[in-house]
Amino acid sequence: SGILYVVATPIGNLADITLRALDTLRSVHFIAAEDTRHTRKLLSHYDIHKPLVSYHAHNAEERGPELIDRLRQGEKIALVTDAGTPAISDPGGLLVTQALEAEVEVTVIPGPAALIAALVVSGLSTHPFAFLGFPPSRGKGRRRFFTSYAAVPMTLILYESPQRLQRTLEDILDSWGDRRISVARELTKKHEEIFRGTVAEALEYFSENVRGELVLVVQGAQEKNEPEVLEEDWKEELGRLI
Ligand code: SAM
Repeated sequence: SGILYVVATPIGNLADITLRALDTLRSVHFIAAEDTRHTRKLLSHYDIHKPLVSYHAHNAEERGPELIDRLRQGEKIALVTDAGTPAISDPGGLLVTQALEAEVEVTVIPGPAALIAALVVSGLSTHPFAFLGFPPSRGKGRRRFFTSYAAVPMTLILYESPQRLQRTLEDILDSWGDRRISVARELTKKHEEIFRGTVAEALEYFSENVRGELVLVVQGAQEKNEPEVLEEDWKEELGRLI
C-alpha cells in the first residue's frame, strides 16, 4: 500500500522547511492540507505544483476514509497543516490513527513545532514538560483543566489565542499561583517577541490589545522544600549536637 507522510511546515518564516520536506512534497501523488489556499502560498514559494485536497476539522469524518482508500491503493500522500507539525493541536492526528488502523505505513518528516520553539527560549526547565494544547474556552471543563494541572511538577506548555490571553493568565494566576512564565509571540516572524517574568507581570504587560500567535510556557509546581527524609536527617543532626 501507499505511504502517509506527516510533513512539518513553517510556523511563520517560510525558510523554516527541511530539504526532505520539500523533496517529499514534490514526490507524493497529492497533498492533504488543512487550508489549501494557505498551503498553496508555501508551495508556490518553492515552485511546487501538486494537487491539493482539503482535510480539516469539519470534513475529516468524510474525507478521512477517502484518503485511506487512496493510500490502500498505493498512493503516497503528504499531510500538512497551516503551521508546524501536523497532529499537534490541529486536525492531522485523526488521519494518522485511521491510517495505522488500516495498516498503512505512516512516516514523519520532522520540522518546526511552536511548542518546542517556545520551550527552548523560555528559560524554564525543558524537562520534564507537559504539553496541554489549548485550554477549554469556558465552563466546567475549563475550571477542571486549570485545577487538574495545578500540582504537576513539570513545565507546562499551552497554546492560546490573543483574545483569550488575559483570561487565561488570570486563571493561571488563580489556580497555579504567581509562577514564572514565558509568553512567546509570533515566533520566527517579523514581530517575534518573548516575554519572560511572573504571571502577574505578564498580566500587566499584556493588558493592551494583544495580536499574533502565542505559546505560554509556565513553570511547574515546585516540590516542597521538606522532603519526607527530613525528619530522619533532623534527628541525626540533633543527635550529633547533643
Ligand atoms: N501544529 C502547530 C505546531 O506544530 O505548533 C500548532 C497548530 S495550532 C492550530 C496553532 C497554535 O500554535 C497557535 O494558536 C499558537 O498557539 C501556536 N503557534 C503557531 N505558530 C506560532 C508562532 N509562530 N508563534 C507562536 N505561536 C504559534
